[in-house]
Amino acid sequence: MTVASNESALRVALIDTARRMNSLGLNRGTSGNVSVRCVVAEKEGFLITPSALPYDETEPEDIVLMRFDGTHTGRRRPSSEWCFHRDILAARSDVAVVLHAHAPFATSLACIGEDIPAFHYMIALAGGDSIRCAPYATFGTQALSDFAVAALLERRACLLANHGLIVLGENLKATLALAVEVEGLCEQYWRAKQVGTPRLLDCEEMQTVLTKFRDYKSL
Ligand code: 13P
Ligand code: ZN
Repeated sequence: MTVASNESALRVALIDTARRMNSLGLNRGTSGNVSVRCVVAEKEGFLITPSALPYDETEPEDIVLMRFDGTHTGRRRPSSEWCFHRDILAARSDVAVVLHAHAPFATSLACIGEDIPAFHYMIALAGGDSIRCAPYATFGTQALSDFAVAALLERRACLLANHGLIVLGENLKATLALAVEVEGLCEQYWRAKQVGTPRLLDCEEMQTVLTKFRDYKSL
């Protein structure tokens, strides 16, 4: 993944993404957090939202610059979830952005603790034939990070049991857009389950969809 090095522009864009996460109804209050890879002084690291600070009060100087060894600079403490942001970015060279939100439908389904199956072909947007639900672990722990990294293997989204969701992407805009799609899918799955038993697409069909999605790009 090519990493951007315009640190000040990335700080502004990161805050904008966090604010839009809330205005789009994907998150509330100070829940959730967002990170983006960046290179500063030729060192690889990432910018991350600070812990417990309302997004509409967050200034560019409040964004925390972290290195992959967990050290950080800035006037604020990094998000309590910096560990899974760091571990995901370290494990996934195809990813530049990690977005975590307590989106209402995704979080409600995460409280059931089950994967979202292929009830709709758009599940393939998350990279496979389901959206996995990582087992529960206390927020901010290495255990939660380990569960999240495993649930995201070859995927761009997962649920976190009794907690929320994580979405990955190549840039801030695409990641926010995927979060909107995943929350929409969770709402559709929720609604379908109210009126019957959703009919699932089989593995073969989902492979066909995954292959078609590789060519589904605007020109
Ligand atoms: P932070 O405010 O520390 O980022 O925590 C919010 C959250 O969602 C924890 O899981
Ligand atoms: Zn959370």
